[in-house]
Amino acid sequence: MDARKLQFTGVFFDGQSPRKQPVSIALSPRQLTLTTDAGKSFNWQYANLKLRASGGPPKAPFHIEHLTDSGPNPAPETLVVEDAAFLENLQRASAVPLHATLRPASGWKLVLMAVGFVVAPLFIYGLWKVAIPAMTEEVAMRVPVEWEKKLGGTIIEELPKALAPVADPEKEKALDAIAARLLKTVPDQPYTIRIYVVPHKLVNAMAFPGGHIVFFQGLLNTAETPEELAGVMAHEIQHVLLRHSTRSIIRSMASQLLLTLIGGDMEGTMSTILGVAGELDGLRHSRKMEREADEKGMQMILAAGIDPIGMIRMFDKFDKEKFQISIGEDPNVLPEEEIKDWLDYFSTHPATEDRVGQLKKQVAKAGKTSYTPLLPGLDWQATMVQDLDPKKEPETSPLDGPQL
Ligand SMILES: [Zn+2]
Repeated sequence: MDARKLQFTGVFFDGQSPRKQPVSIALSPRQLTLTTDAGKSFNWQYANLKLRASGGPPKAPFHIEHLTDSGPNPAPETLVVEDAAFLENLQRASAVPLHATLRPASGWKLVLMAVGFVVAPLFIYGLWKVAIPAMTEEVAMRVPVEWEKKLGGTIIEELPKALAPVADPEKEKALDAIAARLLKTVPDQPYTIRIYVVPHKLVNAMAFPGGHIVFFQGLLNTAETPEELAGVMAHEIQHVLLRHSTRSIIRSMASQLLLTLIGGDMEGTMSTILGVAGELDGLRHSRKMEREADEKGMQMILAAGIDPIGMIRMFDKFDKEKFQISIGEDPNVLPEEEIKDWLDYFSTHPATEDRVGQLKKQVAKAGKTSYTPLLPGLDWQATMVQDLDPKKEPETSPLDGPQL
């Protein structure tokens, strides 16, 4: 036989004011009844009770929270009982087993919640940083070349009118000859390189998926020899062969998709953070791609027996030109160092000396000294250089800035 105790005393907090109210507690099979000194009584169903605990076996004083659906008040009603026998008697009085009624918010649950808060963003960030790039790589490498050709062709057709290619057979013939010399070094590649000329002053070139390469007139005007142009051509051909544009497009699509999925059930803050992380990450990848195209491009130049000094000179010039294009009319707005930092971080290009320096190192390492001239019978300047009417050109274009 055991002596059951069904009456206790405790302190009641209503969750809305810090006021404590002494109460008497009566245990019955379904509920406990609290009665204040003023004689007011209310019943708490056992099913709605939660024992607040901080890990380990529960001990006095017991903090019992009453879970209600009511209102906006975030703090629950709480009962504090000092009597060490209270919990045991509460268990005995209850008609249903304690574990089904009194739900302890014990330490492990809190720890689990904390872990969840830390792990969920990490998981998503991991998805972003590791899974998407890996997947992008995988998908881009499996995309059929025919699909890439179609995609690239569509982009060319959709270029804004001011940047649309114009047929220019003489220049195209010279550019095709340079491409052919370079492509002899990679006989097994699956692309057909198609060269386009755009009569725009941009000192730039762009490679689109599937082998479509665009040269802007500004770049043709800047290249003083076929060898200089060949340096850019080799770089752009490598962008095609390495599927850089295809990878970037697929990656951007996957990132957008993930953002949409997250946006569905998470706070906007998270989407924003990931958006920024994704963008910076994208830039970093672009720079990695640029270095790769530089390195493999120079390998191609050397393998084709073309004088590599042309590529080095051209990239030196290009970076100086880009300086003007990116910063605008007045390069004195920011101190040089600051501009350099800016370009280093936010352009798809490493800063000048880094890039040109790498190329020089590569050439020195190769140690080759004799080269075969490129297009020796051609009057390069007469064929390629063309003055553009500055009035016809748009002030800005979506393609301003480094794209090479
Ligand atoms: Zn590039």
